[in-house]
Amino acid sequence: MSFFHSIKNKRREKIIGAGFNAGSNQSNQTQIENNDLVDSTVDSSMYGSSPVEKEKDIMTNKTMLQYFEWYMPADSLHWQRCEIQAWGLSQLGINMVWLPPAYKGAAGKKSVGYDVYDMYDLGEFNQKGTYATKYGTKDEYIKAVESFKSQGIEVLADVVLNHMMGADEAQTVIACEDAGENREEEIGGEREISAWTRFTFPGRQGKYSSFTWDYTNFSGTDWDEKTKKGGIYRFQGKNWSEDTDDEKANFDYLMGVDLDFDNSKTTEAVTNWGKWYLDTVKPSGFRLDAVKHISSGFYKEWMANMRSYKGEEFFAVGEYWSSDLEKLKNYLNATGECMSLFDVPLHFAFVGAATSNGGFDMSKLLENSLCKATPFKAVTFVDNHDTQPGQSLSSFVPEWFKPIAYALILLQESGLPCVFYGDLYGIPHDKIKPVPGLRQLIKLRKSYAYGTQTDYFDDSSIVGFTRSGDDGHSGSGLAVLMTDSDGGKKRMKVSQRLAGQKLYNALGGLLDPVTLDNEGYGEFYVDGGSVSVWVTEQAYRDVRTSVEF
Ligand code: CA
Repeated sequence: MSFFHSIKNKRREKIIGAGFNAGSNQSNQTQIENNDLVDSTVDSSMYGSSPVEKEKDIMTNKTMLQYFEWYMPADSLHWQRCEIQAWGLSQLGINMVWLPPAYKGAAGKKSVGYDVYDMYDLGEFNQKGTYATKYGTKDEYIKAVESFKSQGIEVLADVVLNHMMGADEAQTVIACEDAGENREEEIGGEREISAWTRFTFPGRQGKYSSFTWDYTNFSGTDWDEKTKKGGIYRFQGKNWSEDTDDEKANFDYLMGVDLDFDNSKTTEAVTNWGKWYLDTVKPSGFRLDAVKHISSGFYKEWMANMRSYKGEEFFAVGEYWSSDLEKLKNYLNATGECMSLFDVPLHFAFVGAATSNGGFDMSKLLENSLCKATPFKAVTFVDNHDTQPGQSLSSFVPEWFKPIAYALILLQESGLPCVFYGDLYGIPHDKIKPVPGLRQLIKLRKSYAYGTQTDYFDDSSIVGFTRSGDDGHSGSGLAVLMTDSDGGKKRMKVSQRLAGQKLYNALGGLLDPVTLDNEGYGEFYVDGGSVSVWVTEQAYRDVRTSVEF
């Protein structure tokens, strides 16, 4: 049977492959499954430089995992969960995780982390009714970060600098009210309001930093405690930062009390905090929250400070929530490309394709995406904690389309893909199941999605692309075919180097493989409303039979 035909011929290749990827899922799998086939007398040195040296030369695709969803239980066990899962996630092919904000939020133990109260309280002080955060204690957090890093997984800390909530005291401030939908329009004269702006952190008592916050550090708020009235209140003498998003005329204000980065004391406070955080937690990089509501000039300077302090050009990705590609490109320019951005336009293309009843023009799926415009600055994703059902930006990609979207972001060349926790593990709160085939796609990305990409976005329904494979990744090369409508076929070239090989659908079964002709072309097929992913025998065996983590 063809399945086993080439195993013996590939023996040498597999042994080398195992050496190249020491510790990887692929090598473990090879060793476990083909133990009887491996000739232990083969000396890998006969192939030139040692496998360890070779390993350094071979690029491994990066895959980020957003390691939380909104409705995870508030059991303070998440950091411990991280520690336990780190090894398995590295086996799966995850080499970067984005962890939720780790500091004490106004909602205490229930806080997901975006309602920032005290950025120096990482689950250590008795504040907001709890020592631990929703995710655990400071020590557990630091251990979780260390565990990931020891498995070769980079850790992105979630940094929320736009706003704070849950102040210890209210202060009397003079403010004027701006129109909710047009922040440049004043709708009331100046008057005294009572604003929650005084943060003294009595539970921490000055440990790590004696800095306390008052109304001078903020630009405005959305609540007058005196009259118990909501509104957009801008404090006397303050302006909304000009270099923010222009939605609602000026979108500096989002929620809570808004940090004023025109005040050097505010900038200094968050810069000192950033340095403390780098020293204390030692994250590999940052995920930056709500950047469209924050002065772009501030962030350019802050990131330069952080990199200078850490002494290296570490990775950062910003959340600029807009489907307008031009805005994202402008922001990258304005910040000197000091961070990557999430590919929000692509997320909305997925939503559009999935909700058009088969009428979406699939040839335009990538048309306005950041990953097409600036491939090296795009973090592609399907969904996140804000787009999941019940959340502020709810725009969840429907279940049937998720494997299509993930096949695209995980197997294409451009963009750094970010997998959502709720898609990998499911969301019990909403009875949402894990995305079928997602683990296989992550593994395929890690070991087999290499080589030149050829696009076939040439039809309004059935589109696809291929990766040629390369010599550094044994068994690599694949073809992806997807449709939002009826099924069908498409002739695509994978690579002449794979001529004559049979390719199997990693998301389907062993039956009816596609054989590549002498030039490396194959006629691939896909069922209606789905995706097929055609891979080599080696890749098929690896991703279909290995242990799930
Ligand atoms: Ca702001």
